[in-house]
Amino acid sequence: MAKRDYYEVLGVSRDSTLEEIKKAYRSLARKYHPDVNNGDPEAEEKFKEISEAYAVLSDPQKRREYDQHGFSTSLFDDFDFESVFSEFGFGDIFDMFFGDGYRRTYTTHRRRTRGSDASVEIDVSFKEAALGVEKEVEYFVNGICEACNGTGSATEGGIVICKTCGGTGQVRTSRSTFLGSIITTSTCRNCEGTGEVIKDPCKKCEGKGYYRKKKIIKLTIPAGIRDRDTLRISGEGNSLGRDSVPGDLLVTINVEPHPVFKREGDNVISSVDISIAQAALGCRLRVETLDGKEDIIIKPGTQPGTKIVLRSKGIPRLDGYGRGDHVVNVNVKVPTDLTPEEIALLKKFAEGREEVVGNGTSSFFNNVKNAFRK
Ligand SMILES: [Zn+2]
Ligand SMILES: [Zn+2]
Repeated sequence: MAKRDYYEVLGVSRDSTLEEIKKAYRSLARKYHPDVNNGDPEAEEKFKEISEAYAVLSDPQKRREYDQHGFSTSLFDDFDFESVFSEFGFGDIFDMFFGDGYRRTYTTHRRRTRGSDASVEIDVSFKEAALGVEKEVEYFVNGICEACNGTGSATEGGIVICKTCGGTGQVRTSRSTFLGSIITTSTCRNCEGTGEVIKDPCKKCEGKGYYRKKKIIKLTIPAGIRDRDTLRISGEGNSLGRDSVPGDLLVTINVEPHPVFKREGDNVISSVDISIAQAALGCRLRVETLDGKEDIIIKPGTQPGTKIVLRSKGIPRLDGYGRGDHVVNVNVKVPTDLTPEEIALLKKFAEGREEVVGNGTSSFFNNVKNAFRK
């Protein structure tokens, strides 16, 4: 196919300077760039033609070759617009004038979007949190509409390319300045940037492709989970309909307090009360642990504040390696409800150990007794 003369294409004379060639190309490229001509094939051809002419005439060696033989040996078939633009420093100018849209001309594509995360709180008992449990979790979420399969369209083929933006999802507005026309790109309001509109929206979801619904999922709560810990369940959150990625479900765990156990790290803490006699003489007691009843030994001469540690009877570690301990705090209770006989016994006990008790009068002990009775 016969090519038009490159000088003619750019509208410059044979003896024009490189500056003049650049200037001519710049103004023509702005005029014929495919992006400002809504993909008009004629403009595209024109744009290719001027770019080709420019690629040759802007290169001193190619230009000499062209002047001598009327053609250049360079291959135009794999002509690379972007490299010409960057060579020219035109890439930046194009970005400024046309936005980044020119790199994805003509392509219609629906944006792949992600739905938001849903969240829910659930209550678990102390033991369930400590040892792990399976729970059914019920929550509300924007789920895919099964009536339209998430498309939002009541009929097949009801989704059409947006006329406002021609399917690009973006609209350009131009305004004139002393530099030439400046084009700004913004998201198309008619289709909200999707490039598509629905002619006949689904009744069930009002064209959204999703609606609010109740969902129940089975959840495995790992042993050792702590109060206010949050589990992230991938893909169980809100959907935005077809072609969207659902968000996640965030489950926050509320651990109910236990009447006997407390938690410190991975240790379970509980306490027992023993009498002065049990502390002094020792005894055997039964305490509750996560694994059931357990016998502990109170040694003779046990002091108040003694801790008895039951190794590996605490909370399983979340990483799966081992368990914490169960720590029993031993409280020694001093009796406050002594009978006259017990007072006499204790008095005798104190006398035997030459310990001073009270003020040595019986009225003191009566007062003590009365005080205790209140
Ligand atoms: Zn629907
Ligand atoms: Zn649109």
